[in-house]
Amino acid sequence: MSTCTAPHLADPLADPGLLERYVKQILAAPVYDLAVRTPLQAAPALSALLGNQVLLKREDLQPTFSFKIRGAYNKLVQLSDAQKARGVVTASAGNHAQGVALAARELGIRARIVMPGTTPELKVLGVRSRGAEAVLHGESFPFALAHALQLAESSGCTFVSPFDDPQVIAGQGTVAMEILRQQQGPLDAIFVPVGGGGLIAGVAAYVKYLRPEVRIIGVEPQGSSCLLAALRAGERVVLPSVDGFADGTAVAQVGAYGFEICRDWVDEVITVSNDELCSAIKLIYDDTRSITEPSGALAVAGICKYVASHSLLGQTLVAINSGANINFDSLRYVAERVAAQCVV
Ligand SMILES: *Cc1c(COP(=O)(O)O)cnc(C)c1O
Repeated sequence: MSTCTAPHLADPLADPGLLERYVKQILAAPVYDLAVRTPLQAAPALSALLGNQVLLKREDLQPTFSFKIRGAYNKLVQLSDAQKARGVVTASAGNHAQGVALAARELGIRARIVMPGTTPELKVLGVRSRGAEAVLHGESFPFALAHALQLAESSGCTFVSPFDDPQVIAGQGTVAMEILRQQQGPLDAIFVPVGGGGLIAGVAAYVKYLRPEVRIIGVEPQGSSCLLAALRAGERVVLPSVDGFADGTAVAQVGAYGFEICRDWVDEVITVSNDELCSAIKLIYDDTRSITEPSGALAVAGICKYVASHSLLGQTLVAINSGANINFDSLRYVAERVAAQCVV
């Protein structure tokens, strides 16, 4: 095992019944009340640079600038009337918060959102402007999460997990449904950013059921690689510390529902450094004139690293560009890191 990859081949003997249950939920998920079908867009400069055809799934173009509204809406819309009346609470570093806030407003549900004190102001304002209550609590996600669970228990409202919930996973899985419809020709691998593992679980469930030959490759920041750690240990471990640069994926422990899928159906997980994320933000900008947040650039950073380490040529590779919520003043740091590396 190299230092950055876990060659964890999808297990051909694993039970496809689990996948089938998710595929049914994904096909039935009413996410398009709120989410849009995003483009799967060619990235000509990146493709020429890497000698492989790279396609970008533009989830940064969703109404909240990340895919999270898919899972949040799919969860909220299926609550009972009594649950809807009692309201929801969640914990989030930001993008899930905005997804829940927008979905709750759409459905007329009261939403309280606990966010770590370090959350970028942009994301806090995004929640408040959508009519939800933002409660700033704790230094990082685990503290915010504990507070949100307490609130749910004491007030009887429903806790909406950002990733550890089958309905949230099914909502995120609609990204894969679109990718397979949009790319019916050659498709060798889909690179998926990983925080708590909800997105990759939904994507893996759908793709491995329908096109098992397509490789599913998870990409995590080096400073919060909780899925890689869990796959190596054979169980969900809690990382002792988590780096916050890629704030949308700074999670210390992969979700239980997601891990159940990922342990058998994800082909490989790789990690990338913060500098590699900065380079990827620039590469995406060069091809699209769009800015992604650090977590949103994970998949492209992963493709760059994977193509180099496996000497891939002529393949068709999809990167899920998962979000665009970055504070404007963080761009100076990103640009400085790219200039310091002089590699792109
Ligand atoms: C939440 C998020 C991810 C990771 O999704 P998980 O389901 O937590 O693995 C990736 N990118 C962005 C921008 C996100 O907001």
